[in-house]
Parts: sequence; structure tokens; C-alpha cells
Amino acid sequence: SWLEGDVALVTGGGSGIGRAVAERFVAEGASVTVVDRDAPRLRAVVEESVDPTRMLAVEADVRDSQALHRAVADTVDRFGKLDTLVTNAGLWDYQRPVTRLDGVQLGNLFDELFAVNVKGYLLAVEAAWRELVRTRGNVVMTLSNASTYVAGGGPVYTASKHACLGLMKQLAYELAPRVRVNGVAVGGMNTDLRGPASLGMAERSIAASFAKRTADTPPPPIPLHDSSTDPRDVTGSYVLLASRRQAGTITGHAIAADGGIGVRGFATAAGGDDLGAQL
Ligand code: NAD
Repeated sequence: SWLEGDVALVTGGGSGIGRAVAERFVAEGASVTVVDRDAPRLRAVVEESVDPTRMLAVEADVRDSQALHRAVADTVDRFGKLDTLVTNAGLWDYQRPVTRLDGVQLGNLFDELFAVNVKGYLLAVEAAWRELVRTRGNVVMTLSNASTYVAGGGPVYTASKHACLGLMKQLAYELAPRVRVNGVAVGGMNTDLRGPASLGMAERSIAASFAKRTADTPPPPIPLHDSSTDPRDVTGSYVLLASRRQAGTITGHAIAADGGIGVRGFATAAGGDDLGAQL
């Protein structure tokens, strides 16, 4: 187990990637605090855990600095320390282009999305850094294909995820040499990722876009066509980066766990579609 005896705190741990990371960390020997604004989800995560004694649920909104400080304090009260912070809670903009929103809508969307996706990450680090310095711990941020490439969202989501990449690098500098700060840039994942309430999209789930796929749908335009969209399949990168023993020399780095978007071709996404026939 790579995280034996470690203590982690995961924001947005009630669903999707955050929940999968929390469960994987417990399986790797860690104790984990899951922070989310959705209390029923948090209860389910703890009740359904393989070891509820190594899980703590704290209801908090990541825009609320005091609530995040409380979550860190509760973690230290319960488990004695904090080794890893996973900043993860986020919203999507459902690819709303600038041409389809008026200025008021755009302003509201920007304020809500940046408050959760960017300020939420920064405030969580502010709440946790003192404990992380004590343990020579680390931060792992959920980043995105939208941290590097366009069209994984609209301008507001893309800008927010680019901003998180910048946060990751800046904080890796500021918190060195005591605390490592890295990210996992995940690609499209079949989760319950929601939209902004300010656009009436709080109940809309990204899962619907995956449900629309059929056997006749062309493969996703990424080199690893059948790259998994199950959030459990990206958790290995989080375990690696969180592990002192395995990643003690890595900081300021994002692992792309996105099916190879960076090596996508022009004519076809994957250059080796006929490899099987060449054997
Ligand atoms: P999800 O909705 O399944 O999980 C996110 C969790 O965050 C939810 O439980 C939600 O209640 C919580 N949350 C949202 N706003 C919050 C707030 N203000 N305070 C506290 N908790 C809050 O979605 P997910 O896909 O697992 O998203 C996790 C992260 O992954 C996000 O940062 C998202 O941008 C990123 N991401 C997702 C995808 C994808 O395709 N699903 C791709 C790349 C990056």
C-alpha cells in the first residue's frame, strides 16, 4: 500500500472523481476526510466505505474559507495530521460559447464558476498549508484537458482550468521545499459533474452526454479511443503523486490522464488504427 498511515482531505469527495480518489486512498491504507456541500452524498460515501472508521465527512462549501479551516481542524482532531490535500470540487459550463450568452449571464457564470473552480482550490490550500508543512505533505489538484487545450468547455471553464494549472505551478514554488504541489489532468469522465446555478444548470449532469453514446457512435477523437471514462481508472495518478516514497522528487507537474489528447493526429486521431491488421 503506497499511502499506509497517511491522512488525506478531498474536496468534492461526495461524487465522481473525488469519491473515487477517496475510496482508492482508503484502499491504499490512508484515512480520508471527504468534503462536499452535498450532505446526503457524504453520508453515503462513509456508509458504503470498506472501512468507515478511516473516513470522515465534513459538509462545507469550498467558497467558504472558515468552513475549509474547520474541515482541516476536524481532520487533525480525528486522524492526528494531514499529509495530502486533493482539491477537486468543481463545476462545468456546458460549453456555453461567448456568442450564446449576454453580458449579464456571462458575468454571473464567470463569478460562480471561478469562485468554485479557482478560488475553491486556493482557499483549500490556504486552509491546509500549515498542516502540510508539518508533515512535509503534498497537494494534488484535479486539472483537466481544459487546463491545456480548447473546446473541453466554453471560455469560462477553459479559463478556470488554465487558471488552476497556474495555481498549481505557483503554489509548488511558494510551498517548496516542504510541500509538493502537483495535478492530474483528467479527460472526459462519466461523473455527475454539474453546471452553474446562475444559468439554471445546477441539476444538469455531464453523465447525460455519455448516456447518448451508442454502439454506432464514432470512437472518441483521442488516440486511446477506448480510454476509460470511469473515474476509478484515473485514481492511480493521484496515488502516485500523493506518495512520498514514489513521488518525493516531483512538484509543479501535471500528469495527463486524458487518453493522449496531446498526440492527437490531423487526419485521424490515432495513427495506429490498422496495427492489428499489420501483425
Ligand atoms: P461530480 O459533480 O461528480 O463531483 C464533484 C463534487 O463536487 C460533487 O459532489 C459536488 O457536490 C461537489 N461540489 C460542487 N461544488 C461545490 C462547492 N461549491 N463546495 C463543495 N462541494 C462542491 O463531478 P466530477 O466530474 O467528479 O468533478 C470533479 C473535478 O473534475 C472538477 O474540478 C471538474 O472540473 C474536473 N474534471 C471533470 C471532468 C469530467 O469529464 N467529469 C473532466 C476534467 C476535469
